[in-house]
Amino acid sequence: MTRILPTDHEHAFGTRAVHAGQVREPLSGAVMTPIYQTSTYVQEGLGRHKGYEYARTQNPTREAWERCVASLEGAEYGFAFASGLASLDATLKLLKAGDHVVSGENVYGGSHRLMEQVYTRFGLRFTFVDMRDIANIERALTPATRMIYCETPTNPMMALADLAAVGDLTQAHGYLYVVDNTFATPYFQQPLRHGADIVLHSTTKYLNGHSDMVGGMLVTSREDVAERLGFIQNAAGGVPGPMDCWLALRGVKTLPLRMRQHDENGRRVADWCVSSNVATKIYYPGLADHPQHDLAKRQMRGFGGMISLDLGDPARARRFVEKTKVFALAESLGGVESLIGHPASMTHASVPKPMREAMGLTDSLIRLSCGIEDADDLIADLDQAFKASR
Ligand SMILES: *Cc1c(COP(=O)(O)O)cnc(C)c1O
Repeated sequence: MTRILPTDHEHAFGTRAVHAGQVREPLSGAVMTPIYQTSTYVQEGLGRHKGYEYARTQNPTREAWERCVASLEGAEYGFAFASGLASLDATLKLLKAGDHVVSGENVYGGSHRLMEQVYTRFGLRFTFVDMRDIANIERALTPATRMIYCETPTNPMMALADLAAVGDLTQAHGYLYVVDNTFATPYFQQPLRHGADIVLHSTTKYLNGHSDMVGGMLVTSREDVAERLGFIQNAAGGVPGPMDCWLALRGVKTLPLRMRQHDENGRRVADWCVSSNVATKIYYPGLADHPQHDLAKRQMRGFGGMISLDLGDPARARRFVEKTKVFALAESLGGVESLIGHPASMTHASVPKPMREAMGLTDSLIRLSCGIEDADDLIADLDQAFKASR
């Protein structure tokens, strides 16, 4: 169980992104946290050691990474996992058979799959609702409800949940309130401030930001939750290796710089999409006519680089994603390089088609992850792909 250092709440966000959680390496004073590529640690005598016994339980590279993200989210404790889904897996292990979860309907496809196709077999029950309206959550509550699981903005429909309103509801009833903050990152949105108990990340995405590792993270300030998560992390063992923690620790140092550029590029590309009429629907909370723009402004400091477009024609959508050159056709998001995807056949193929269609995730929907390249090049690329896809 990794608790932040007493100094980790000092300093502003950008300084913490670079320094939080990291201690001077005692042997040489290396400025960068070493990759402690070891499975075990010498003990001076029986029961006498430096706090490190076995690397599933503790690893100094992992600890620095856990503290850094915890600090950025304003949390006390951090727990790194081998993937975002491994971190959701650990979160669901806080529950027991018979417990009920109310989840957003448009959560990451793999999150939905883990809940519906794995954990229902262990006796957990899930209701998936449109979290844009708090009344939908209230209607889904049962006496067995223990957890509210929320993603905002959602992937790929960019729908928002009102974090503070859900926080009030969960606090009134004592539900465990979990928020997947992968899309916004703590640079733009900090769910713990709105009452969340646990924040979850796929660190594969913006936090690492360089598309060169897969990882997950949970942070919390609740000591009881931290105790249990630390126990689960060690007992089930879904931990990342030190090399991936080191890559992510390096990646997160530039999070504020990257997020500012993703945000600028997202706004430029969204404006271009509007002015050039490429889509029948544009899903980007930074647009003034996005139905939840006011909420976005209230709970987010920026809107980021994720944009979904409905081209109105599935065949054209398929042609479009194959014609871009700067935007690479690939799953995933949140890296420095721009990616384009077709959610219905890629990231969300595991979501049943009727459920996809009901939330607007049509076969003509494409998703853009705007990287940090020059916005003019991104726009020119989309423009040529749009013309070539006619
Ligand atoms: C990618 C993603 C996940 C799953 O994370 P992995 O690292 O791929 O296991 C969960 N939530 C969101 C919002 C994601 O984008």
